[in-house]
Amino acid sequence: EQKVVLITGCSSGIGLSLAIHLASDPSKTYKVYATMRNLDKKQRLLESVRDLHNDTMAILQMDITDQQSIGTVQRSITEGRVDILVCNAGVGLMGPLEAQSEDNMRGILEVNLLGTIRTIQTFLPNMKRRRQGRILVTGSMGGLQGLPFNEVYCASKFAVEGVCESLAILLQQFNIHVSLIECGPVNTDFLRNLKKTEVSDESVEVDAHTRHLYEMYLQHCEKMFQNAAQDTEDIIQVFMEVIQAQCPVFRYYTNSALLPLSSLKLTALDGSQYIRAMSKLIFSSAENADTQK
Ligand code: NAD
Repeated sequence: EQKVVLITGCSSGIGLSLAIHLASDPSKTYKVYATMRNLDKKQRLLESVRDLHNDTMAILQMDITDQQSIGTVQRSITEGRVDILVCNAGVGLMGPLEAQSEDNMRGILEVNLLGTIRTIQTFLPNMKRRRQGRILVTGSMGGLQGLPFNEVYCASKFAVEGVCESLAILLQQFNIHVSLIECGPVNTDFLRNLKKTEVSDESVEVDAHTRHLYEMYLQHCEKMFQNAAQDTEDIIQVFMEVIQAQCPVFRYYTNSALLPLSSLKLTALDGSQYIRAMSKLIFSSAENADTQK
C-alpha cells in the first residue's frame, strides 16, 4: 500500500523538490498530493514529473489561508487518509519593525502560523482515529532565535515551534509523530518571494541609524545566502530521513554549522550571549571597523 503524502507550497523551493523526489521513487512507495495556492504555477512541477505515472502524484489547488480550499483537497484524496502531512508553505517579511504595516503583519501570521495550524487541524482527526500519522513542518532557525529586521517572521516561526512542541506531547498518545525540519538559508525563491518593506518611503518614520543598520543586515543576508545557503537537495535528504525513520524525533537541523551560534541561547539562559554574538556577526563588518580606526 502506498504512503499518502500531502505537501503544501509545492510551486517552488523545498515543497517542489520534495514532491518531485517522492513522486519519482522507483518503487512508487508514495502517492503525493502536491498542493499549491496558484495552479498557474504548476508548470515547474509538471515538467519534472512528466514521465511519471499519475499513480504517484496529483496536483491540487490549496491556499492555506482558505479553509474551504483545504476542505476541498481533503475530500479529493481518494485514499481517504493522509499518512504524512508536510506543512511547508510559508512567506518571509523583512524590514524595520516600525515600518511594517498592519496588513503585512497580519498577512504573514495568517500564512505561517494560522495556515499551518489550519492545515494540521483539518487532517488531525483522521490521523487520531487511525492512531497513525506523521506531521512534518518546515521550520526555520528564525523560529529558534531572533534575527534583526525579521521580528514578525521570527514571531510567526517561534509560534509554530510552540504549536508543534505542544502537539508532539499530546500526539505521542496517538502514535502520531510531529517533526520540525529546522532550515538555515536555502537556495529557493524564498528571498525573492519575501516582502521587503521599503524604507525609502517618506511617509514611514525610520531614523537614519536604523536605515544604515538595515543596509548592513541586507548585505549580511546576501553574503549568508551566497556562502552558506544549502540546496533543496540537502534539505530533502533530511526530510527523507524523517519520513523513513522508524521513530522520528522532534527536531532535525539541516545545517549543523549554524548550531554553535543558536546553542548560545542554551548556554546563557539570560540571553546575553546569543544577542551579543549575533549583533557582532551582523553589525561589525568592515564599515564599522573603519569607524573604529
Ligand atoms: P519558496 O518561496 O520557494 O516556497 C514557499 C512556498 O509557499 C511557495 O511555493 C509559495 O507559493 C507557498 N505559499 C505561500 N503562501 C501560501 C499560501 N497561502 N497557501 C499555500 N502556499 C503558499 O521558499 P522555500 O524556501 O521553499 O520555503 C518553504 C518553507 O521553508 C517556508 O515555510 C519557509 O519559511 C521555510 N524556510 C526557508 C528558508 C530559506 O532560506 N529558503 C529558511 C528557513 C525556512
